[in-house]
Amino acid sequence: MQYKQFGKDGPMVSRLGLGCMRLPMVGEGKEARADDEKGVAIIRRAYELGINFFDTAWGYMNRDGQRITGLGIKPFRDKVVLSSKLPPDEVQEPADFMRKLEMSLREFDTEYIDYYHMHALNAKNWSHAKKVDMHKNMLKAKEQGLIRHISFSFHDVPEVMTEIADEGIFSSVLCQYNLIDQSNEAVMQKIADRGMGVMVMGPVGGGTIADGGEALLRLYDTSAASAPELALRFVLGYDAVSLALSGMSSIEMLEENVAIVERAASVTPEERELLHSTNDKLRELSDLYCTGCNYCAVCPQDIRPSAHFKCYNNAKIWGLYENSKKRYDRFGPENRFSGNSADACIACGACSEHCPQKIDIPTRLQEVREYFSR
Ligand code: SF4
Ligand code: SF4
Repeated sequence: MQYKQFGKDGPMVSRLGLGCMRLPMVGEGKEARADDEKGVAIIRRAYELGINFFDTAWGYMNRDGQRITGLGIKPFRDKVVLSSKLPPDEVQEPADFMRKLEMSLREFDTEYIDYYHMHALNAKNWSHAKKVDMHKNMLKAKEQGLIRHISFSFHDVPEVMTEIADEGIFSSVLCQYNLIDQSNEAVMQKIADRGMGVMVMGPVGGGTIADGGEALLRLYDTSAASAPELALRFVLGYDAVSLALSGMSSIEMLEENVAIVERAASVTPEERELLHSTNDKLRELSDLYCTGCNYCAVCPQDIRPSAHFKCYNNAKIWGLYENSKKRYDRFGPENRFSGNSADACIACGACSEHCPQKIDIPTRLQEVREYFSR
């Protein structure tokens, strides 16, 4: 495992961090809880493989993510970096912050959290966070030793990232950055230059890049052995980036990702230049940029927009039309795994309100329907 300094006052962190949001669950729907045996096994194996950064959040895994993460890291708590997040809308009055931080500490069964984030900041909820003194209370919690570093995760346009960082209280940022979405690149460098740590989520674009497979490798004319390796080489090769987070749900997936990171030596300047020059073409092809975060999974008709967008992008970008059409045709009211068909959309717009990428979901779903009806 490779390690890198995380910001000017941060620890050395493994270049791959374990995102504890997709650990195995038992039970169905909202009642599902972490599978302790499997979750702990993944976390302990990650530590054995050299991962020392474990990230979760208040809401992950039906609110069970902090408990399972704490349970997993228990034997080596002081040797690893624990990261969690609280969304500003969980703080409706100033006292909510400390109450929820104390609940989090109890769930982790720890006395401190190394990196505590304002979760999924954008201009709107940053304004709310300040209104309810979340930033001031985070500083107090830091003074009390309950938090070691104040951070934020980010979903908005790059200018807003700069504005938030200017508050001067943050040690690091967690943001989107990958081969097909480099919109944050310039601001990430500025953030790193001011001594903050930069951590990346979605290094393989929510699986989109991995699904590109051989076709993507050909497109980039790269020496990487696989599309995920190419994606990680690109992300970790960017000087501003300390580590990439990946949500892993099995030991096999974990071992594979660690092996990829171990192989993924930093890209050479020539390869990086080549990747950049190919990027304009990719961006044009992927104008529907869905990360698969599923924040939009609030549909009264049980439509899962990300599954539709994945089919669409796979077909359009990499020419996987037949395979994607088959998957698209399986959407329907009986499909428990991928949900209902876009045919059932009533254009209520509830989903779009939750989309960090600001996708006009009903309109794009209509486009997807037309595309697969041809
Ligand atoms: S706009 Fe369509 S997909 Fe979105 S929540 Fe409403 S019915 Fe569901
Ligand atoms: S449409 Fe938006 S909210 Fe839904 S999965 Fe994609 S990026 Fe996430």
